[in-house]
Amino acid sequence: MKRHTRQGEVILSAIKTAGRPLTPLEIHELASKKIPRLGVATTYRHIKTLSESHQVVGVDYPGQPPRYEWADGQDKVHFACRACDKLFALEDTMEDTPPAKAPKGFKVQGFEVMLYGMCPECG
Ligand SMILES: [Zn+2]
Repeated sequence: MKRHTRQGEVILSAIKTAGRPLTPLEIHELASKKIPRLGVATTYRHIKTLSESHQVVGVDYPGQPPRYEWADGQDKVHFACRACDKLFALEDTMEDTPPAKAPKGFKVQGFEVMLYGMCPECG
């Protein structure tokens, strides 16, 4: 039981310190540096537990692999680098108005924005 807690802590701290959404495999790679014999299935299990307890949130965009980031309660906008395929979390400075107007009869319940281009490392 204790070992599991430590694994969960290492995984959560990997997600926290990355400062950007990570794929489960990226999380696994980072956590493996601290826990060399960590299994991929174990990583997945911990990610699931962390997301069920709302410590991490899933980040899903069409055409992108599912990623996870620390649930720090801040609204975020994401930036996808087209060269290295990394996703970055940016501070949300947008107004809460959708960038498009829905025609009559449509009820807008939310919208998602993603910026993309080149990250500093690639650009
Ligand atoms: Zn990049």
